[in-house]
Amino acid sequence: MEPPAPCASAGLPSGSTAAAPAARPSSRRVSIAVPLSYLFSGGCYRRVAKNFNAGERSVTNSPVVPEVDLWASGRQVGHLRVPQSRDDSGWGTIQVPIVVVANGTGPTVLLTAGNHGDEYEGQVSLLDLARSLRPEELQGRVILLPAMHYPACAAGKRLSPLDGRDFNRCFPGDPFGGFALSLAHFVDSVLLPICDYQMDLHSGGTGMDIVPSAVGHILDHPEMQARTLAMADAFGAPITLLLKEVNAGPTLLAAAENRGIVALSSELGGGGRLNPAALTITKRGVRNVLRHAGVLEGLPEVGEYGPSRRMTVPDLAHYVFAPADGIWEAAHPLNTTVQAGTPAGLLHRIEDPGAPPIELAYKATGLLWCARFAGRVKAGDPVAVIARDM
Ligand SMILES: [Zn+2]
Repeated sequence: MEPPAPCASAGLPSGSTAAAPAARPSSRRVSIAVPLSYLFSGGCYRRVAKNFNAGERSVTNSPVVPEVDLWASGRQVGHLRVPQSRDDSGWGTIQVPIVVVANGTGPTVLLTAGNHGDEYEGQVSLLDLARSLRPEELQGRVILLPAMHYPACAAGKRLSPLDGRDFNRCFPGDPFGGFALSLAHFVDSVLLPICDYQMDLHSGGTGMDIVPSAVGHILDHPEMQARTLAMADAFGAPITLLLKEVNAGPTLLAAAENRGIVALSSELGGGGRLNPAALTITKRGVRNVLRHAGVLEGLPEVGEYGPSRRMTVPDLAHYVFAPADGIWEAAHPLNTTVQAGTPAGLLHRIEDPGAPPIELAYKATGLLWCARFAGRVKAGDPVAVIARDM
């Protein structure tokens, strides 16, 4: 059985009208009363997102159907309906939760969590925000995906239980490439083009534990770098960090950067658990981002630890990688200042009981920002990442 053609499931324009001109400045003003409309093109209906005020338009051939009106005022709770055929449900879909809260005119902020399913501080913070954010307290639009890669979130896994994909290595996606690529394509081609700010909330997951940080990439463009740092400082984690990431190209953060959106990621604890202190930081941080964007009134709130410490992981020389499979015994707890050339820990090899453990050394001086949490490691896994002050 074949699923219905994507174009056949498209809805019709609501016919609502644009909202009044905005009172709050925005680089990409959005009238949230403009409907999602559909144009006949190339033998298939294509959904066309319009912003009549700004003259913006994004065309997508995505088969993903949002069951909320991205241009309506008020608070909507619904799903993105992503095709996923099964043996017993040829027309099956997976429902990815989405919440849109909008009022008046102003910037659009996209907040996402559950890109990896075993990272919980972001998921719980966005659930809290979804329940508590009232339309009348904001000017602009907030789009929340609290459990973006829903199959992985439901399983409590980093990778997809459907196909083993890492969702954060699926961007910019492929509309007909299967669940993860199709959803990534929708986020990239439909949601990102209507955003001014985007933050994708991560933690260390099952494998890593990380000092709570707002994280941006090291960018070539000075103005975008400055805007990224300003938003990260506003989030207000203990650390604002610029990162040289392993395989950053296919990430959501890179996709947002490629579209000229001020974008952040984060690392907010880890170990496959919900860290209460990191959760407090995250809940405050997401509201701070909305204040920074001008969607919420007021100034960002500063944590009890004070302004964020600006740090960087500038290259892979700040990583310590395991050279072999084994059990990792770290020499220091997370958040310790360490010296290059000193022992980072011991790698115990069960295959060779007569040999001493392999001693690994730090290759950089700085803060032990990220540490291996799970005991078992494979060759090539990072066991420590050092950050230094900017
Ligand atoms: Zn993650």
